[in-house]
Amino acid sequence: MAQHTKSTYTLNTGAKIPAIGLGTWQSKPSEVREAVKVALQRGYRHIDTALAYGNEEEVGQGIRDSGVPREEIWITTKLDNPWHHRVEDGVTSSLRSLGVDYVDLYLIHWPSSTDPNDLKKHLPDWNFVKTWQEMQKLPVSGRVKNIGVSNFGIRNLEILLNDPSCKIVPAVNQIELHPNCPSPKLLGYCKAKGIHCTAYSCLGSTDSPLYRDEALLKIAKAKGKTPQQVLLMWGLQRGTSVIPKSVTASRIEKNFELDGWELTPEEVQKLSSLPDRFKVCRDAWLPIKVFFGDDE
Ligand code: NDP
Repeated sequence: MAQHTKSTYTLNTGAKIPAIGLGTWQSKPSEVREAVKVALQRGYRHIDTALAYGNEEEVGQGIRDSGVPREEIWITTKLDNPWHHRVEDGVTSSLRSLGVDYVDLYLIHWPSSTDPNDLKKHLPDWNFVKTWQEMQKLPVSGRVKNIGVSNFGIRNLEILLNDPSCKIVPAVNQIELHPNCPSPKLLGYCKAKGIHCTAYSCLGSTDSPLYRDEALLKIAKAKGKTPQQVLLMWGLQRGTSVIPKSVTASRIEKNFELDGWELTPEEVQKLSSLPDRFKVCRDAWLPIKVFFGDDE
């Protein structure tokens, strides 16, 4: 049986991303410092944050409080939409806030370049292909070890990968994945291109409707596991890394009890074929559409 808490996925760069990380979206600055410390002391070795979350400084403090050496920790952060034409500045800002001199993974948070002077508008004469051209300059600096994308569906990945300026295939695509948003086509597409997928909102996010799903509750009861542990195991057994968010110490602990047991292929299949569909993160708030229904 896999020891998931210690396992990693090897990216197309050769780097190894820990399979389980702590998410920090909506973790208030006042709470996230302790959450990160608790998680690292419990054994987590992967922290996911973003400039847009407004908590990088406290995430960095939590990392230092934990006493875990920096080189043992995988840190992911993300380029915010209004920073697409200032990639170097975005990295500098995140490194300064986190208080580290490199991040392990830097992602384009959304394939949408927002005008910083008007957040409802797309940046004139710019697009994510140009952003990726700037991203590709980062690894040589040593300030960013791996680069990737987030919220890219097949249509946008095709645009990116087919552009002659694309010399580096993204190492990771961080996307919403849970049993009500399983996106098998997008997962298969990324696998074929050598792009690892990290599952966000892997529990279904705040007030998850999944916790009322009869099939999930039945599997959890039969296995003597929490519904959250079953959801995380489902993500791991599909070959994705998972980054559950919690600011509650007992939940951070429970979400990490993922060694020495597994779901059967039938249980995985059952969860992959639940009839309900919902998406936590949509694109109506962005100046352009980024989801085209080609990811399911
Ligand atoms: P999750 O699916 O991780 O769910 C988080 C919610 O579940 C919180 O309300 C948390 O509560 C609760 N929770 C966690 N563990 C348990 C448990 N054992 N029992 C009961 N409730 C629990 O949601 P997120 O949307 O936050 O996604 C995870 C991470 O993915 C984010 O934090 C972020 O890092 C990343 N992400 C990336 C996005 C992107 O665009 N790239 C978009 C969305 C998320 P509490 O904290 O109060 O304990």
